[in-house]
Amino acid sequence: MRAWAILLAAGTGSRMGEATNGVAKQFIMWKNAPLYWHSALTYSRAARIAGLVFVFAPENLEAETARLRTLYAAHDLGLPWKVVAGGALRQDSVRNGLAALAPHTADAAYVLIHDTARPFATPTLVNRVLDGLGAGACGVIPGIAVTDTIKVVHEGRVAATPERAGLRAVQTPQGFHAPTLAAAHERAVAEGWVVTDDAALLERCGEPVLVVEGEPGNHKMTNPEDMDMLHPHTPEPCVPRVGFGYDVHRFAGKDAASPRPMRLGGVSLPHGPMVLAHSDGDVLLHALADALLGCCAGGDIGRIFPDTDPACEGMHSAVIVEEALSRLHAQNMRLVHTDLTVITQTPKIAPHAEEIRRNVARLLRLPLPSVNLKATTEEGLGFTGAKEGIKAVAVTTAIHCNNTKAMAD
Ligand code: MG
Repeated sequence: MRAWAILLAAGTGSRMGEATNGVAKQFIMWKNAPLYWHSALTYSRAARIAGLVFVFAPENLEAETARLRTLYAAHDLGLPWKVVAGGALRQDSVRNGLAALAPHTADAAYVLIHDTARPFATPTLVNRVLDGLGAGACGVIPGIAVTDTIKVVHEGRVAATPERAGLRAVQTPQGFHAPTLAAAHERAVAEGWVVTDDAALLERCGEPVLVVEGEPGNHKMTNPEDMDMLHPHTPEPCVPRVGFGYDVHRFAGKDAASPRPMRLGGVSLPHGPMVLAHSDGDVLLHALADALLGCCAGGDIGRIFPDTDPACEGMHSAVIVEEALSRLHAQNMRLVHTDLTVITQTPKIAPHAEEIRRNVARLLRLPLPSVNLKATTEEGLGFTGAKEGIKAVAVTTAIHCNNTKAMAD
């Protein structure tokens, strides 16, 4: 057996209005398509579906037909489709959809009726309903056990408490033997029945309706807060960022104007050569600050602390590192590691290495194992080999988390 699906998209969805700027829920754009298209995709993935009938409010018919042509052109569902105008009530829309199929459409002996405000129904559920029809039922509906206790309320007071075990919350797709459903709709017109689902019409006609297991995820978009279901608050992945810094300071000659005593990583090396610098001359912290700025695309320290600025004269380089670190935090980044290398012929770094490492860890608020310090010479080559200056390089790793606010401390 095969079946057509009637996809109902004619409702006004008034309760959603405030969350959608008045757009009816079936037209909410989700993953670059209106919500109703996602139901069409689901049905196209069930092999026994023979075709689709889209039902739109008369005022939307023309525009949505044009949009469906565009959607089909981009993604052919491989199914014939029809478009019909809906009516004032849901049951009027279903009746119009049935009329579009009867009596000569191939494979239309069975129909599934689906509310397109249920975009999360799966092909598995569609197949389960079809299985029920294939087994001989003339009406099959999915239902899930209710977890809330349900009260019958009359004029604000509880009138009855039905036993929960026998209750089911009913979903779509609802599947039917099409002539049986069409006859029930004709009788509803004649008798003036108003119902909220098609199974209720079969019930009133005394026809049995089979209940199969529904899907807990098959929610019906109803209230403004249901918009969250389309945009679940999944944490964004944290992305690592690597920053690189490099700096060189010249050693001061005998007649230099304002030589600075050597500092590396905030630690004084009193027996090292004097250096020329505008700040306190800490080449390692300068490289580190640039690496921090590198992580957060913050430019370089020369832009933040220009050496033409008298305020930077003799400035403690820990202040520069602190500023770079705060800029990194301001961009929702958390520093996780740094690897530092001092390149110089003199002085020997090893006696001071642990003190420098501890001080850098303190400045960066990192655990000691997250700070590495290396030192090397350049084998007597170049300006470091000639003892004309010292250089330092720094690599820092930070984690960028969009969903995390302040990450400082
Ligand atoms: Mg410098």
